[in-house]
Amino acid sequence: MDNLKILFASSEVVPFAKTGGLADVAGSLPKAIKKLGVDIRVVMPKYKSIPESFVNKMKMVGSFYVNVIWRRQICCVYELLYEGVVYYFIENEYYFARDGLYGHFDQAEQFAFFNRAFIEMLQFIDFKADVIHLNDWQTGIGSLLLESDYMDLEFYKDMKTVFTIHNIKYQGVFPKEIMDDVLGLSWEYFHLNGVEYNDQVNYMKAGIAYSSIINTVSSTYADEIKNDFFGEGLSGIINNRAQDVYGIVNGIDYDENNPATDKRLFANFSSRNISGKYENKKKLQEYLGLPIREDTAVIGIISRLVDQKGFDLLDFVLMEILNMNVQLVILGTGEYRYENMFKWAAEVYPDKVSANIKYDETLAQRIYAGSDMFLMPSLFEPCGLSQLFSMRYGTIPIVRETGGLNDTVRPYNETTGEGNGFTFKNYNAHDMLYTIRRAVEFYHNKPIWDMLVKRVLKQDFKWEKSAEQYIDLYKKSLLKE
Ligand code: ADP
Repeated sequence: MDNLKILFASSEVVPFAKTGGLADVAGSLPKAIKKLGVDIRVVMPKYKSIPESFVNKMKMVGSFYVNVIWRRQICCVYELLYEGVVYYFIENEYYFARDGLYGHFDQAEQFAFFNRAFIEMLQFIDFKADVIHLNDWQTGIGSLLLESDYMDLEFYKDMKTVFTIHNIKYQGVFPKEIMDDVLGLSWEYFHLNGVEYNDQVNYMKAGIAYSSIINTVSSTYADEIKNDFFGEGLSGIINNRAQDVYGIVNGIDYDENNPATDKRLFANFSSRNISGKYENKKKLQEYLGLPIREDTAVIGIISRLVDQKGFDLLDFVLMEILNMNVQLVILGTGEYRYENMFKWAAEVYPDKVSANIKYDETLAQRIYAGSDMFLMPSLFEPCGLSQLFSMRYGTIPIVRETGGLNDTVRPYNETTGEGNGFTFKNYNAHDMLYTIRRAVEFYHNKPIWDMLVKRVLKQDFKWEKSAEQYIDLYKKSLLKE
């Protein structure tokens, strides 16, 4: 069981391509697992958007054909050794030389190709993985394809799968005709406990139904998705597989995100000397055209602007918040309704609101470092990385007690002095407002606030512990039939 060999498959990986937290995890978890002595390699599509600096360093491994039913598609494999980990890139001009990662009309086919390609790549490069680690719907279908088409081959017969659910809301649901036309699967898999979902094909469900082991990215979320509300229609199959479902909380890369060395910041700092943090705040206010005021609490938000993240709560009580002595700094893109809400607020309250409706990684780090508080009132949150980044940069999270937010943020208790943030339980705008008010009150109590800032700066949300738990999951999967 030592010398485990793992193929980690993901549709996005930092620093090559990213739309959300999945890419952060795929860019940092394998590194941590590798450090523990496992031969883990990562595979992703070779998108057009991958920066040239990486593409130039890639080495071509070779090419072979992949059949997507009647389509015979070329698959070119490229390799890059990056920070100690081997990355494979699956190239096919037709499927991946496009703008944007998702949302194309034929994504059922794109990802059917990608899954077949990385499974067949294993034999092509002679990397006999013990486990293929699949992530979210884009690679969920891989476990079913492996079972239906490859398990009878000597090379694949002992291979196991671990499937990680990063967000059960996005499932990859397609018309059932793709069974014949894209997947080439027997209809015997199209049933309630298989890949069928409301008379359609569901890639996420395939991952849950056919993987050896399933996990999600926090223990609270692992429990939550057993209920209808969080399960997004898949709680039935989750409950079916309940004894194989685990929760492992995400970590973040502490080297790439280090307030003491991060060049993207206006100033560096650490728990021993937090004066640089306040320098960041001043410079951030200046940079964004907000009044430079040390005594005003800056509340940061960096997020996809979607319902999941709780912005309808903000909509309800925005005026009350803006009547407090605070500044709101928003960075995000998403639904028109929320983009407009923040743009409007910035127009009406230019001294209090900075709405940055864009995707900008440098500005993100500057907001993590320059804010006093970070607001994340999510309706649901599988793990959430933003609260971890904010704490890494000494910014106190205000969150709703759900999913990974519940597992990583403990409410400050003025009696015991314990806690690392401010939390509320019910999905209720006034509960959130009350919690923000409470945080702002403590912000004006400098000894307590500085103590909290130093406390979160000293916390450990590194990957090591969780990486060990993933290795345990790999080993557990090997014991499966
Ligand atoms: P999710 O995966 O649901 O979007 P997470 O909190 O797990 O939420 O991860 C979100 C990641 O995306 C974080 O790394 C966050 O900093 C980043 N992010 C979100 N929106 C933006 C943006 N507009 N600009 C830069 N980074 C962003």
